[in-house]
Amino acid sequence: MLLRHTPEKIAERQALVVQPAKTCQPIGAMYAALGIHRCLPHSHGSQGCCAYHRSALTRHYKEPVMAGTSSFTEGSAVFGGQANLLEAIQNIFTVYDPDVIAVHTTCLSETIGDDVNQIIIKAYEEKKIPPGKFVIKASTPSYVGSHVTGFANMVKGMIDGFAKPSGTKNKTVNLIPGYVEPSDMAEIKRIATLMGVRSIVFPDTSAVLNGPQTGHYEMYPSGGTTIPELIQTADSQVTVGLGPIASGPGAKLLDTRFKVPCEILQLPIGIRATDEFVATLRKYGGNVSEELMFERGQAIDIITDMQQYLFGKKVALVGDPDHLVALTGFLTDLGMLVRHVITGTPGKKFIKRIKDVAQTDDVNVRELSDYFYMHQLIKNEPVDLVFGNTYAKYMCRDEDIPLIRMGFPIYDRVGHQYFPVVGYKGAMRLLEKMLSVILDRQDRDAPEEKFELVM
Ligand code: SF4
Repeated sequence: MLLRHTPEKIAERQALVVQPAKTCQPIGAMYAALGIHRCLPHSHGSQGCCAYHRSALTRHYKEPVMAGTSSFTEGSAVFGGQANLLEAIQNIFTVYDPDVIAVHTTCLSETIGDDVNQIIIKAYEEKKIPPGKFVIKASTPSYVGSHVTGFANMVKGMIDGFAKPSGTKNKTVNLIPGYVEPSDMAEIKRIATLMGVRSIVFPDTSAVLNGPQTGHYEMYPSGGTTIPELIQTADSQVTVGLGPIASGPGAKLLDTRFKVPCEILQLPIGIRATDEFVATLRKYGGNVSEELMFERGQAIDIITDMQQYLFGKKVALVGDPDHLVALTGFLTDLGMLVRHVITGTPGKKFIKRIKDVAQTDDVNVRELSDYFYMHQLIKNEPVDLVFGNTYAKYMCRDEDIPLIRMGFPIYDRVGHQYFPVVGYKGAMRLLEKMLSVILDRQDRDAPEEKFELVM
């Protein structure tokens, strides 16, 4: 009864969003920046933005996320934030000694029109940036886009700030993993390594936001893409961008600026999308290893054994566009019925992408949408299972529907940091999660005479 005022009747809204299915652009930029080794993200705006964005990431990863802020006051809002950013850059290098500061803007600094590029040039001219250190930037106002486009913009900022051709191309494959968990980035890297492909994964938050408890605090953990790797991205034979929204813009920038051709794929979620990723790596010198074939076979075996529990189950999905397209494809391949799909990230192509992979027009899809609308859809056509972030738990509790947590943010469970959903291993994890909640529900609801030991 938490959401007892949500009416079943759907009224079209244009000027009101209730529980948006997205969050701020700077969160994505901050997350991407953490995937550079020894990088401190910096929020060019007021303290409140930075505090919120840090706390969202800290709660999701259960790790302390550090970032600087330009600490705008009323004066900066009127006269501009140049003086604050120049002072911040000098202080950060002096006190915290990162190798890179990754500056992203916020609603306020964008609205007043601060020219961050010019401020960074001034910082170099005034020698506030020590030799061998870097400041990169991304434009991320939150009145457009979402955390996913913020991630994409910071990836472009990395290319803009670092990529530099040496004049000699090599066989390296750039892998832009998309806005996925550290565990997924590690898995994408592992698959490339298993196939014998030399890769540069960027950004790479594995071993940054999912490291071990050592008893010591490390401001800059061991993970992250290094500066030399980022510079070398301009010499690679190809860029494979996983997810067109999060990785497409960066992959295309490397293509247009440095003639590194790009392949933009779906996120490798599920068997078919992982096959496509593996086939693409084969094109660029990779070999399918025994180990990879073994994992694929295991995933197929689970599907074969348990198909009857998945077939025909109705599913609703809330989250980020690249995840949702790949997940819809996987669930459709399993014979499940994807009925409602919404994202808060803008992009009209999303609707067609979902209908294409669902192989039907008979699916409710919306971009720039919210949890309120999803709740109404479910009231009109109930489902057996929901995929969504932590905010979906209210709706799922009210409607008594099992929820599988996936996407950002997840504040009330652990596991997403450590176990991937991409690749064949990720497919197995998703299958296990779905089967667990579906069979738990069957056990809970079964009359005594049908309560089975073996399922
Ligand atoms: S919406 Fe804009 S002002 Fe609000 S927290 Fe996000 S970036 Fe800051």
